[in-house]
Amino acid sequence: MSFQSRIGRNPHSIIAPVPAVSAVFFDVDFTLIHPGPRFQARGYVASCARHGIVIDPLRFDRAVAAAAPLLESGDHIYDGRVFERYTRRIIELMGGSGPALDAAAREIFLEWAEHRHFELYPDVPETLERLHRQGVRIGLISNTHRCLTSFEAHFELDGLISATVSSYQHGYMKPHPSIFRAALELLEAAPADAAMVGDSLRHDVLGAREIGMRGILLARGDLPAETDGVEVVRSLVEVPDLLKAPVVPQ
Ligand SMILES: [Mg+2]
Repeated sequence: MSFQSRIGRNPHSIIAPVPAVSAVFFDVDFTLIHPGPRFQARGYVASCARHGIVIDPLRFDRAVAAAAPLLESGDHIYDGRVFERYTRRIIELMGGSGPALDAAAREIFLEWAEHRHFELYPDVPETLERLHRQGVRIGLISNTHRCLTSFEAHFELDGLISATVSSYQHGYMKPHPSIFRAALELLEAAPADAAMVGDSLRHDVLGAREIGMRGILLARGDLPAETDGVEVVRSLVEVPDLLKAPVVPQ
């Protein structure tokens, strides 16, 4: 069964339907692409080995989860050093130590900027092509230092993406309203005519909804515990049909 949660906060309240959209923005990491082996346990082991650091690959998943709070910033101003500290913490939690920690972390951080280390999810080309045929303009909004202008050429999506905004160039990160407004300006779209699709409830969905955009959560794996009031898709192929019709509150 296709899962599209349209849960109203109050099932008895009367809510005006949300109109179909003319522009849709996608988050990038873990929405359109995912890291390849370079950023999994064996990639960390290889980087650290080059710097004389020994780490335990079996501790990778726990280390990533434990380091995640370092990525939360109160002011949402982009700062690459945050990502370097996050990477260094992962290495430490995998048992790494010594004077070369910073160098190993920086190497991994810098390579995160290269498209070649990432893989496209298989549902992306079909989804973007269908949206394009529907006349919906497509943009990217990402908390990244990767070059988004070369994204569509690298992943063979030429002609499908009309605008990109990266936090590295813009200065603010999602969920700050400024980065969503900058993207809307590029497509000359009003918030009420636009949607944001991403895998982060807080950064992508709630950030977009804060300024009046429609927010759609992509939950490829486990469904988050808190999705009250949020539209949820389990695959991007659900998005084109979802955007054709207004939301009908239940
Ligand atoms: Mg993401």
